[in-house]
Amino acid sequence: MMYPDLKNKTALVTGSGKKTGIGFAIAQKLAASGANVVLADLPPKESGKNPADTDMTTLAQVLAEAYSIKSLAVALDVTRNDTIVKMADAIKEQFSAIDILCNNAGTVFGVPNAVHTYPEDAWLKTIDVNLHGVFRVSRAMIPLMMKNGGCIINVASRAAKVPPLFNGAYAVAKAGVVMLTKVMARELAGSGIRVNAICPGVIHTDFTRWRFELEARILNSSTEAREAEMLKTIPLGRLGDAAEVADLVLFLSSGASAYMTGQAINITGGQLMEL
Ligand code: NAD
Repeated sequence: MMYPDLKNKTALVTGSGKKTGIGFAIAQKLAASGANVVLADLPPKESGKNPADTDMTTLAQVLAEAYSIKSLAVALDVTRNDTIVKMADAIKEQFSAIDILCNNAGTVFGVPNAVHTYPEDAWLKTIDVNLHGVFRVSRAMIPLMMKNGGCIINVASRAAKVPPLFNGAYAVAKAGVVMLTKVMARELAGSGIRVNAICPGVIHTDFTRWRFELEARILNSSTEAREAEMLKTIPLGRLGDAAEVADLVLFLSSGASAYMTGQAINITGGQLMEL
């Protein structure tokens, strides 16, 4: 166990209901460290998951059994306050408080488009999920962290710092997440709540596979060729793994990072070296 102080803590990870995603990797590593975990995600129909995928309730049970922790699976749409209130009630009932909040849920609508062709509804929806979702969930959960203090980790992106082409709403939203992180870090420092963001580069998930497929279609290329092009820009010469992103989240959740707040840490295989 890398961080023994995570044992018996309670963590909520949004967007964690998909086995292949970064959110579940984070939940799994937290559970392996002895933390109780709340998995929260869109119901399968809305998130467009493959019906063959393991459902979130089963994933939560598997973690509870494997690591002898308590777990909970809750339906959540970070754009809808009614689902957030229900989630908060369920968490209060089972755990009374939380120590770790990882705002990981994220997605993209309307790409590829330049700003001057971007459909307004897709632009607004992208910012609603990625930025306002972090605001809504944090607003509801911070009261559950006030008594004991804790850690908030927001999953931003390299795109928060270097604008990707034709994906402007996502970049703007993630840049907003970095500023929201700093805002919350200052506001909550006196309450013993540290707030940090992480900025992953290109990580092996469905999201990245979808991105390479989209680029291949537009450029009349192949996903393999798109990935090979991408690898040329990454000094470590490979994509990142969700588990490696999870390791950074665990560090930021533990006392090992006790003197860090308001930071936005890159995890990009060296693709982004500027802070
Ligand atoms: P993913 O698509 O595999 O997982 C995202 C999860 O968020 C899904 O389970 C999805 O259902 C959930 N989600 C989407 N909209 C939601 C909503 N309205 N309410 C609740 N849950 C919602 O993607 P991933 O690669 O695991 O991405 C996780 C996070 O990491 C995202 O915030 C993404 O922007 C960020 N990120 C990913 C990469 C990458 O290369 N994969 C790079 C940088 C940042």
